Amino acid sequence: MAIATERDLPRRASILDPAAIERKLSLNTYNVDASRAHIRIIDHDVCLQCQRQQCINCCPANCYAPADDGRVIFSYEGCVECGTCRIVCHVFDNIEWTYPRGGFGIQYQFG
Ligand code: SF4
Repeated sequence: MAIATERDLPRRASILDPAAIERKLSLNTYNVDASRAHIRIIDHDVCLQCQRQQCINCCPANCYAPADDGRVIFSYEGCVECGTCRIVCHVFDNIEWTYPRGGFGIQYQFG
């Protein structure tokens, strides 16, 4: 019986290069609407009840970060408008989500 080697395993190139997402995000430009956040956490105290806090793990732009007190810190400026946080917060429904006003938000460089 042949022994499997590393060559036999499926390739996971995107995981082997964790900086790839940052490089791709850096190609985009943003016109940030300083007068209106298009996404907000409705009640920061509700985040204390949420054990998984999947917004932190799932946001591709790292807009969510854990706070020292167990709450979640959010900044909308780097948002890529994917909608992931709106979906993963389905248990507590604690994210108010809209698109930025016309002319604001992310401007993708390659579609
Ligand atoms: Fe992050 Fe996407 Fe939510 Fe924007 S819409 S904050 S990029 S998960």
